[in-house]
Amino acid sequence: MCISRAHVRAQSLLASLCVLALWLYARVQPRAVPMAKRGKCEKPSGSQTGASRKRARHHLTTLARTSHVSQSGLAKLAESFAKDGVPEHAGRFVQYKARKERGATMTPYGPLVDTMDLPCEKKGKQRVGIQNPLAMFFQCCLVSVALSGLVMAKLEDHPLPWNVIFYVDGISPSDTMTMHDRRSLQAMYWTFEEFGQENLGREELWFEVASLRDSLVKDVDGGLSHVVKLVMNQFLFGPERSFAKGMHLQFHGQEAPTTFLAARLGCILSDELALAEMLLCKGHGGYKPCLLCSNVILKMYYYLFAGSDWPVPSTTTDMSKIKLHTSASARETLDRLAALKDELPKGQFEEREKLFGFTYNKHGLLWDPWLAVDIASTVMFDWMHIYLVGGLCHVSSRVTCVSFGVW
Ligand SMILES: [Zn+2]
Repeated sequence: MCISRAHVRAQSLLASLCVLALWLYARVQPRAVPMAKRGKCEKPSGSQTGASRKRARHHLTTLARTSHVSQSGLAKLAESFAKDGVPEHAGRFVQYKARKERGATMTPYGPLVDTMDLPCEKKGKQRVGIQNPLAMFFQCCLVSVALSGLVMAKLEDHPLPWNVIFYVDGISPSDTMTMHDRRSLQAMYWTFEEFGQENLGREELWFEVASLRDSLVKDVDGGLSHVVKLVMNQFLFGPERSFAKGMHLQFHGQEAPTTFLAARLGCILSDELALAEMLLCKGHGGYKPCLLCSNVILKMYYYLFAGSDWPVPSTTTDMSKIKLHTSASARETLDRLAALKDELPKGQFEEREKLFGFTYNKHGLLWDPWLAVDIASTVMFDWMHIYLVGGLCHVSSRVTCVSFGVW
């Protein structure tokens, strides 16, 4: 539970900081700085006339017109150009090449960005880029003084193995009201629980693994569940690259790798939708709305179990009647469902899936014998995304931003 509380605290702190930042942003008018060549930066002149200031502001509003750039993106670009000058070449191909070169940086655990083949059904095999977690963590420790210090300090306090938090969420750069959003992505991140509550509120400590187009993920048999299984098996806890086998870290300033670090899958953190897609649990599509409760039945279906003293309706307020799954009972449920697949006719099997609360898929994450994911000890609901999105906090934050004129 402490991660959940930490996550919530971190998110609420971030929300307050965002509101403060937006308030300040609204009051500090952007100043147009004439673009200078690298090394020839000019400071904004304090003696601009009213007309030239107006012209500069007009220029600013036209910058993102031909190709969309968000206001904050534009502000960051302008800041970077003012500080380091304008790059001599910035075409798409040059950017692509620079990104490829950076991603190919080699470490003892492979390149920073590696590839993985997705077995898509309609499109055939699709090769996608994956940020190699062990390689990226090795490289970040090597180049970052701050991260090296943090990891060294936390290693003194927390014995091995550490716990990896794996997080998945759907994101989209498009307008959320778009009817057919082809740009929506499934983003996967990871971090270590041992970084502690305060540090987990910093996005620098949430490492990305992959951002894959939703359409691509849905084209794979088993969808997100299958894709996450492939990512975990090939990059996080597989037979070859694995935090469980461990790695040697070379901290900033050291001549060679010295410190051993090993970790297990400690937490799968997501909102309800991502959990349902990743773990193939039925949620409100079955009789059991929660994958962690073994005997809670949706109120509308409770009448089907009348006379039995085992289930309780989802409206119960008597927590003592709720039986949580143990690692053993969850595994037994999943194994029984898998065994019934070949025994029962389709209709009867689907009824069992509803009863057990899971949709069976042989490629699903929970049926992978190597990973043997233990839902009872790892699954955590993303409290912030479940309770604070689309509710009072979300609406009041928006109203605050609108009243400051920054939305
Ligand atoms: Zn539950």
